[in-house]
Amino acid sequence: MIARAVVVIAWWTGLALLGGARVVWAAELTHRGQRIKATMDSRRALRRARRQRKTRYRQPRFLNRCHPEGWLPPSLTSRVSHVMTWVGRLRRSCPITALSQELVRFDTALMQNPEITAVEYQRGELAGYEVRAYMLEKWQRTCAYCQATGVPLEVEHIVPTARGGSHRVSNLTLACTACNQKKGSRTATEFGHPEVQAQARIPLKDAAAVNSTRWALYRQLCTTGLPVECGTGGRTKYNRTRQHLPKTHWTDATCVGANTPEKLCVAGIQPLGIRAMGHGTRQMCRTDRHGFPVQHRARQKRYWSMQTGDLVKAVVPSGKYQGTWISRVVVKASGWFDLVIRGKKASVHWKHCTRLWAADGYTYTLSVPAGTVVSSPR
Ligand SMILES: [Zn+2]
Repeated sequence: MIARAVVVIAWWTGLALLGGARVVWAAELTHRGQRIKATMDSRRALRRARRQRKTRYRQPRFLNRCHPEGWLPPSLTSRVSHVMTWVGRLRRSCPITALSQELVRFDTALMQNPEITAVEYQRGELAGYEVRAYMLEKWQRTCAYCQATGVPLEVEHIVPTARGGSHRVSNLTLACTACNQKKGSRTATEFGHPEVQAQARIPLKDAAAVNSTRWALYRQLCTTGLPVECGTGGRTKYNRTRQHLPKTHWTDATCVGANTPEKLCVAGIQPLGIRAMGHGTRQMCRTDRHGFPVQHRARQKRYWSMQTGDLVKAVVPSGKYQGTWISRVVVKASGWFDLVIRGKKASVHWKHCTRLWAADGYTYTLSVPAGTVVSSPR
């Protein structure tokens, strides 16, 4: 059995489990991402305020700290850790023999020197996909002429081929359909955009230097002792298009790397939606919006062997919320727990609650989370 993990540098990671050519299990993991940054920012603001409150003058520290080699910001570290958590969980529940990871967006070796080689027509279909991935990165997914984003983009020749323009990447740019048609057989300079011509000559600086998060994950995956196969984003898309699969993170995950079977069987797969929620907060003192303390947190996290985030079944014998309910719980020292009943917050006594599932830092859904189908021509 081969487990494939693909890291998408966005809010999601696709995970899939393959037995031969058959997809056995798939999931889409939503990371905490910016929420980590937001809490770190708030912590920094509170600490800064505390340091400056009625204290003697202290010279500000400036550029006197450095990060160790390979340091990643906490929001990115958490992405790596979440993927490793799930790789570990999958390894405990089934005999995984190999891992695949999408390591880079495009393969520079396959493209040779992308800025000087006419790859698109010389090196076959796969190289074309690598070029597209490279172009999208280089032009940051925008139309070079009208800066439109989120629209279908076409690879466009700055000097048209009919007028002697080459297929080299340095002669290619991205344009929306409208701009491409308006430009017609003119060059970019004649079209009134000499800056596009100039920009196209500058190679993408870090074509070979790939995303640090993906490398950090790769090093982590290697520590499992399993063989790790690395794929590129270009190849993922090439494989997925050949299989006629829609663009989602879990379908991407099934198509990573050269070991992808010729014919994938994805029938009946309903991806598990996993959302990373964290394990609560370490903040001991809640403050108002000016940073003044208003409330101290209790040291105790569990009440009647339940804690916030657990999935509970509540059997309420009488009253407004009479009936049987299943919900996530917010525990209270008073014994009156908060549940979501009929879409609204409701107070239910702990005596009526039984824990079904202990909070493990994730919430789960079986439907595909909204916004996973990416329509951009990546
Ligand atoms: Zn345009």
